[in-house]
Amino acid sequence: MEVVKGVDWQKPLPEPDPLYSVFWEAAGEGRLLYQLCPNCGHRQFYPRPLCLACGADPEWAEASGVGEVYTYTVVRQFGAPPFKDELPYVVAMIALPEGVQMLGSITDCDVDAVRIGLPVEAYAIAAGDGIGIPFWRLR
Ligand SMILES: [Zn+2]
Repeated sequence: MEVVKGVDWQKPLPEPDPLYSVFWEAAGEGRLLYQLCPNCGHRQFYPRPLCLACGADPEWAEASGVGEVYTYTVVRQFGAPPFKDELPYVVAMIALPEGVQMLGSITDCDVDAVRIGLPVEAYAIAAGDGIGIPFWRLR
């Protein structure tokens, strides 16, 4: 996953969280993670402290960084900056071939070109303190 550096990040940063911090820090290094249970093989995202299938401690696994649009919406109204300055933008649920879904924004395209099933790839924006914020674009 490409990491775009040098962006003047104006949006809120994720709150430090013992569970999610691993995900943000890996994204800062170009790795897109999901949780994989070493006991039963169940895959899950967003991260939780326990495997939803068997209750074991899930481990992190690296996703390929590609996926397809499962569903999406186009945000056309948002009053507060900096989001206001980016209207319209797409928020989508991305289905990964690893079997999990991730919520994210699809960027660098005409919002009216987005459709369910379109192939997308992840990239991350380096947002400070080693944290990366994943985004998606059409491939
Ligand atoms: Zn399990």
